[in-house]
Amino acid sequence: MQLKDKVAYITGSASGIGKEIAILFAREGAKIIIADLNKEAADATAAELKATGAQAIGVGVDVTNEDQVNASVEEGAAAFGGIDILISNAGIQIVHPVEEFSFADWKKMLAIHLDGAFLTTKACLKHMYAQGRGGSVIYMGSVHSKEASLLKAPYVTAKHGLIGLAKTVAKEGAKHGVRANVICPGFVRTPLVEKQIPEQAKTLGITEQEVIKNVMLKETVDGEFTTTEDVARVALLFAGFPTNALTGQSLVVSHGWFMQ
Ligand code: NAD
Repeated sequence: MQLKDKVAYITGSASGIGKEIAILFAREGAKIIIADLNKEAADATAAELKATGAQAIGVGVDVTNEDQVNASVEEGAAAFGGIDILISNAGIQIVHPVEEFSFADWKKMLAIHLDGAFLTTKACLKHMYAQGRGGSVIYMGSVHSKEASLLKAPYVTAKHGLIGLAKTVAKEGAKHGVRANVICPGFVRTPLVEKQIPEQAKTLGITEQEVIKNVMLKETVDGEFTTTEDVARVALLFAGFPTNALTGQSLVVSHGWFMQ
């Protein structure tokens, strides 16, 4: 068990990638705080984990709301005795060409991806620093932290921004043994991506199959989607790493879509 008795606060973990990380981390002995906008789904996910013998609670949180973030982190820390791991993962996607993007949608995207990362980091660092047992902060970036695609201006902007935040937290957190890293997945077939396939087909005037083959997976080495399990494995690597040797990094897991 690589994460025995570590406490992990994972945003957006009632679905998709975050949920898979919660399942793997619970299997590795961590106590899990399922923090999600959808409180009902968070509770259901926590119940699923508990049914396997793990310790987990569901908390409702909008990561763009400072009071809600602080309250949910405090609730989780009180339940399990602190916070050792933050996975800032909650996210959404909105696609339009720049000239048609509403300012309101732009601000919503930056708020969820960047404000959410900042607020959860601030709330969790407080515990990690006070506890004096180190910690791991992991941001869910994307290949779009490194590369751009059509129609995704605020998503690409925010995902690039997370790398700057991680590098800063890595420098500031080092003396407390707190590491910060970014995972950069390629396309993973979660509800977030399922929603984009028909939207992109419509906007680009092509079929859904063409969106998958010629847009989403075009640059991969083998035409394969990355899986939630692939991403969870990388999260475990970062979360379980014992020293500051692995900090301030971003790791791309994308079937070779982006190589660095
Ligand atoms: P998902 O839609 O399956 O899950 C996202 C979760 O975030 C949902 O449970 C949702 O309720 C929650 N959420 C949304 N807004 C929230 C808010 N304001 N506060 C709290 N929770 C909120 O999506 P996913 O594909 O698992 O995406 C998770 C992360 O992975 C996102 O940051 C996304 O950008 C990133 N990502 C996804 C892919 C992909 O292809 N699916 C690729 C690269 C990166």
